[in-house]
Amino acid sequence: TPGIRPMVAGNWKMNGTGGQLPELRAIAVGFAASGLDRKLDAVICVPATLISRAADVLVSSKVGLGGQDCSVKESGAHTGDISAVMLKEAGADYVIVGHSERRTDHHETDAVVSAKAEAAWKAGLTAIVCVGETAAERQAGQTLDVVARQLLGSLPDDMKSETTIVAYEPVWAIGTGQTPTAGDVEKAHAFMRRELIARFGGEGAKLRLLYGGSVKPLNAVELLGVTNVDGALVGGASLKATDFLAICEAY
Ligand code: PEP
Repeated sequence: TPGIRPMVAGNWKMNGTGGQLPELRAIAVGFAASGLDRKLDAVICVPATLISRAADVLVSSKVGLGGQDCSVKESGAHTGDISAVMLKEAGADYVIVGHSERRTDHHETDAVVSAKAEAAWKAGLTAIVCVGETAAERQAGQTLDVVARQLLGSLPDDMKSETTIVAYEPVWAIGTGQTPTAGDVEKAHAFMRRELIARFGGEGAKLRLLYGGSVKPLNAVELLGVTNVDGALVGGASLKATDFLAICEAY
């Protein structure tokens, strides 16, 4: 989108122990060496246990660092949860909220995702808010209805484009090697842009809209060339520096 700086964000999911850190270093080195930082932003969202070490790896690099979820609460009796404040303190500047795997595995509702976005902003993090329909919803012709409902419910009213990114991730395309056609992505993103402008005005016009779901080096040029696609959220292919950088090279 004219005036919007693209972003390629990686989501390592529950992958990566210390042995994965050299791959992160390779991403940081490759990103700067190829001059990609002049064209786009890159972020890698690592497991919470790796954030502080990843921050050391990425220090003074052009690659941003994120977590993959945060609690709606700042602190307290919530065993196993991690707050946005903790992520920030460990070195993150971004956090994914409402990923379909969180919505499925942890029954996160739009209201919960919205509260997580608020918690992220309060801690000084940029929230990457994920939406997207399931295969059944798509087959029932409900794709745009589902996306509209998730956008409405998962984005707080005080959303600012500077600290928010929306990722459209059809659930059936995540980790499957299947992707929507460029035409379908264009339709979904144009719809999201209209909805966001209707609700947030200029802030909706400036929001970065990422596509996610089986983005690979071979399909990146086509998917990232779609109107209103301002970047990608990349799962599997972000674990290998060569793949992640090849996707960035689509710009
Ligand atoms: C994701 O985890 O958000 C994702 C899009 O995964 P993949 O690229 O592996 O489909």
